[in-house]
Amino acid sequence: MTEKYTYIFKSLSAQQYDSLVRCWCLKVLADNENTKIEFKLGKQYFAYNQEEVKVSEKISTQVQEIINLAGLNIHYTTTEEFMNDIKKADNTYLKFKKSDNIRNQLLFRNNIRKKGIATECIICGEDDTKLLEAAHLWEVKQIKKISLKEVNNFIKINKLQEMIEASSQYSGDFFYKKYFLANSGDNGVWVCSNHHKQFDLNYYYFDSKNGKVIFKFDNSATAEKFKKSLKGEQLSENILTPLTKAFLHKREELFK
Ligand SMILES: [Zn+2]
Repeated sequence: MTEKYTYIFKSLSAQQYDSLVRCWCLKVLADNENTKIEFKLGKQYFAYNQEEVKVSEKISTQVQEIINLAGLNIHYTTTEEFMNDIKKADNTYLKFKKSDNIRNQLLFRNNIRKKGIATECIICGEDDTKLLEAAHLWEVKQIKKISLKEVNNFIKINKLQEMIEASSQYSGDFFYKKYFLANSGDNGVWVCSNHHKQFDLNYYYFDSKNGKVIFKFDNSATAEKFKKSLKGEQLSENILTPLTKAFLHKREELFK
């Protein structure tokens, strides 16, 4: 009996040729096994290998030719809903760009939610969502100031290129790169308003290697109160992703 494999991938975008090679290898393996394989592009979009059109509902001619040559049967399942979401996000971005503002608080909060971390203050554990605020690790005003070289370096070191490219047709914009970093879910934590203020005043920060809370208060009574409210010594594993460590490192540079 012939079994059927289905291989679903998210995007061809920047790594479109890599994806195709992967599909082709899987097809060769499936052929050897006399098994059918089907490829599905799951609710994403193709980025053309062309300067002027980055996001499209259709597969570019070059890519389609390779798909045909390799005898790959790729189903293209991008939905209208997905394309509309992209368009909406792009229009919002343009509005922010026009007002020279990289801080999109709604997007930022949604991205932190998507990360799936506990909705409670990372210091005291306050879990009343009405009292919780989204705090930036690498501060918006610092991100705003950085050079194109620095932003590109950060993107390269943290291997964000593909993710950024897949997120918008404006991904090549210097301004977009800063907008993306400022509103990344990995650049944020939930804090109550009191601990948000103290964080912004640099009364405390988190060690970028292990997430340990390090504080320096001028006022010893406030320091004592802070210590008492502290629910844990360091950030939990699920908060401390490699990208969050990179954002923390940027804050740490200023704190020291
Ligand atoms: Zn708190």
